[in-house]
Amino acid sequence: MVREDELRSAEKAAELPDRRDAELIFIGRIRTPWTSRLDCPRQGRQDGPECRIEIFAPWCDALQGIEVYERLEVLYWMHLSRRDLLLQSPRDNGEVRGTFALRSPVRPNPIGTAIVMLVSIEEAVLRVRGLDCLDGTPLIDIKPDRTLFVPIAAPTPGDFDVGMQ
Ligand code: SAM
Repeated sequence: MVREDELRSAEKAAELPDRRDAELIFIGRIRTPWTSRLDCPRQGRQDGPECRIEIFAPWCDALQGIEVYERLEVLYWMHLSRRDLLLQSPRDNGEVRGTFALRSPVRPNPIGTAIVMLVSIEEAVLRVRGLDCLDGTPLIDIKPDRTLFVPIAAPTPGDFDVGMQ
């Protein structure tokens, strides 16, 4: 069930610390058909609607070469999420699970990820399918789909010893 900002029965929230360390740079904005969390899909589908990823001017050159990838991993900031829940009740039925055992948008750092199919690129706009975020969601990063990358060589004994105490 989609939440706004309510606390459900048996849920538990944390007191958020004053200090926030990470300074993210929003590199663009995502345009989707969904303006309400009630309509937005829980996970994207490759046959879902075409959405636009608009890249902000300073970052356009960083798209160079991206057109060779059919599948991309998109990271975004679910800016309307509350961030303080430790225990959540996704079905609002009194059953709770820890935030880190869920893919809920409600988390201390509300980062969402989606694997999308690249449809086309025109200058600073990517058209993709497979998103599940609200219209106007800030974009954090785009990378080629991680399943296309394999380790260059199998690790050998001792490879991970340096710096490990
Ligand atoms: N696919 C991502 C993941 O697994 O990391 C996100 C999954 S999350 C279950 C998707 C839901 O987050 C949507 O159905 C919507 O209710 C909510 N959502 C999407 N964009 C949001 C935003 N910008 N702010 C707050 N909630 C958002």
